[in-house]
Amino acid sequence: MLRQRIGHGYDLHRLEPVAPDGPGRPFRLGGVTFDHPLGPVGHSDGDAVYHAVTDALLGALGEPDIGRLFPDDDPQHDNADSSIFIAEAMRRVRGASYTVGNIDITVICERPKLGNNRGAIRANIATLLDCDVSHINIKGKTHEMVDAVGEGRAVEVHCVVLLHHV
Ligand code: MG
Repeated sequence: MLRQRIGHGYDLHRLEPVAPDGPGRPFRLGGVTFDHPLGPVGHSDGDAVYHAVTDALLGALGEPDIGRLFPDDDPQHDNADSSIFIAEAMRRVRGASYTVGNIDITVICERPKLGNNRGAIRANIATLLDCDVSHINIKGKTHEMVDAVGEGRAVEVHCVVLLHHV
């Protein structure tokens, strides 16, 4: 049994015009919907922050990743609120007798900016992870206008989490 376990999560979603103009879902990160003409293409709601957090939690436990637990051809998860994926990962964290220490998230995206939504995202994640909001960090970067992310055609998220045995 490890006293601490570290996990890493990564996700990327292609961005397309939001319906009815295209296949994009409303742009959503960390449970917050942004007013933006482009949004993620995905089977669920396409929340790349929630997906990366889920994979970081599962990775810390050495459990199967989000794609294996929730196959993207399962109609049950079509347009699903991605908080259900974090909830399942946290059920496994608790089941293994771990608690969340802290989590650090980096969002890479040209537009929109995280701006004033950063606080709401941190609060949402703190609730889902059952930890103090001061243990949740989220920061935004651009991709300097190069490659798909820099051209505004995708949003990318990295995340690391530390779990403590209880
Ligand atoms: Mg995803």
